Amino acid sequence: MKLSRIAIGSCLAFAAVTVAHADKAAWTQPQQPFRIYGNTYYVGTRGLTAILIASSDGLVLIDGTLPQNAPMVEANIKALGFQLHDVKRILNSHAHSDHAGGIAAIAHDSGAQVMASEVGAKELRLGGHYPDDPQYGDAPTYPPVSSVGVVADNGVVRLGDVTVTAHYTPGHTPGSTTWTWQSCEGKRCLDMVYADSISALTAGNFRYSDAAHPERVSNYRRGLAVIAGLPCEILMVPHPDQIDFLERVARRKPGTPDPLVDPAACRAYAQLGTRSLDERLAKERVGQ
Ligand SMILES: [Zn+2]
Repeated sequence: MKLSRIAIGSCLAFAAVTVAHADKAAWTQPQQPFRIYGNTYYVGTRGLTAILIASSDGLVLIDGTLPQNAPMVEANIKALGFQLHDVKRILNSHAHSDHAGGIAAIAHDSGAQVMASEVGAKELRLGGHYPDDPQYGDAPTYPPVSSVGVVADNGVVRLGDVTVTAHYTPGHTPGSTTWTWQSCEGKRCLDMVYADSISALTAGNFRYSDAAHPERVSNYRRGLAVIAGLPCEILMVPHPDQIDFLERVARRKPGTPDPLVDPAACRAYAQLGTRSLDERLAKERVGQ
């Protein structure tokens, strides 16, 4: 996997430029769940992120990873000492199988209400069978989610003392959503960002530059600008290897600065998205 360093000020953000997610074996490998910060926990696999936020009145889960991983995500939630039936809301980054595939099963097992962006909700109800998806035809379908509530752009999901805000960041998929909230340890509260995938991957005849759809590129760039401009102290993303997330977790040491805290991380991540889109558009100009 090709790695690049993006220098922003004095901060270095490491990111994998390869957007095809080469290490697919890691997608189904177990990962011990752990606390990210305050009431925010990692309950995904080695290669796919799932985030758990504990409120005063139940749990919010973001993403379910692959369909076959649902039991692993559920086991991770329980291993942290939580009850599965305390999961009250399930949110989604984007409606591809590797992030949404397990949601139907986890919603069934927990009784949680699933919520997504307006287009994301449509995609989830169709199990990813969505012709406007840039990867339509290549992206595997998955068990549809029968009931999905809609969260507006800049709308919030409230549960107990937790407020999670939806930011529509379409591009990788039409329904792509970035979620933000605050987590506190004592009086120190940090801006948490779960930014959606920003890679411009296509299948079949899909063209971001399609003259009949000028909104595809403008919406994509607007979403990247939204990510770049977010208050951002701990960045999480659906594919943890894209920001070396678990490697940085492994470097954490008490009494030293937390390698997860990087206020420049969202800007660096958005730059990766701009590069991916520009590369895709350059290929489309020469008919690829
Ligand atoms: Zn995807």
